[in-house]
Amino acid sequence: MRPDSLRYAVVGHPVAHSLSPRIQRAFAAQFGMAIDYTTLDVTAGSFVEAVAAFFATGGRGLNITVPHKRAALAVADACSAAAARAGVANVLAVDVDGGLIAHNTDGSGLLRDLEQRMARPLAASAVLLLGAGGAACGVAGPLLDAGIASLTVVNRSPAPAQRLVERLRDPRARAQPWAALPRLPRFDLLINATSAGVLGQRLLLPDGLVDSDSLACDLAYGEAARPFLRWGHGAGARTADGLGMLVETAAESFAIWHGRQPQTAPVLQMLRTENQPSA
Ligand code: NDP
Repeated sequence: MRPDSLRYAVVGHPVAHSLSPRIQRAFAAQFGMAIDYTTLDVTAGSFVEAVAAFFATGGRGLNITVPHKRAALAVADACSAAAARAGVANVLAVDVDGGLIAHNTDGSGLLRDLEQRMARPLAASAVLLLGAGGAACGVAGPLLDAGIASLTVVNRSPAPAQRLVERLRDPRARAQPWAALPRLPRFDLLINATSAGVLGQRLLLPDGLVDSDSLACDLAYGEAARPFLRWGHGAGARTADGLGMLVETAAESFAIWHGRQPQTAPVLQMLRTENQPSA
């Protein structure tokens, strides 16, 4: 390993499945750059040590995934406003003085993707957010900033949803227990920010939460998103997976590290073509 080489990586556990290396190399190719971008499989107990070693040996930037998003904020010397508000970070970068800066691009990435998919403006929408983990914390504040009418947060365990709403300090946000789902009205936008699909677990959702004017969006993609998208489709809603968000958040981390904004559409198209289910 050359200490002077500029290295980037995604750190998580597990992380072998991550599309981030593919995406970041495709962005770099748009500018004729060759980057060294790998995966780092690191358990929670080794995270601080692994981050220190990475940046001490030429590391310039990390994408952060489960289970390290909270620890990534704690390990940084400073953080962006979005990361401070979310309480979790998904990007680490080195600043001019050599300090570590934590960022959160989940919310802005989701918003950019949604703006291209929503037939109606996000502003004034009634939004249901399922889940209160790292991804939900990252997207909740930016959704409110986009002018939505209301944000209802529903989580399997009530305490994280309550904490998320308290942190938001916004009268448009409220938490509801999972058992209240059948009594809730329809929503313009339903975001599944649970990891049920990734864990191979089924969400039991009432059909009345969405209709043909709604968008049902899973932050997961591929096989993990399929049961939720099938439910949304069955309930009459338009549906979207999280692949677009993944590419948009990755583009923002690329811009943070390299000061250049890559094109996302061709990279999303490439991933969709590569990941088409075989007949
Ligand atoms: P976390 O582990 O931080 O949070 C998991 C959340 O899922 C918790 O709210 C948990 O509830 C809930 N949950 C887990 N299993 C179930 C279940 N069976 N029924 C109901 N709720 C459940 O994960 P993240 O927030 O980081 O990730 C959530 C999802 O978002 C994942 O699918 C991930 O792949 C996706 N994601 C996508 C991104 C993208 O760019 N497209 C970026 C980041 C995440 P409880 O508190 O009760 O345990």
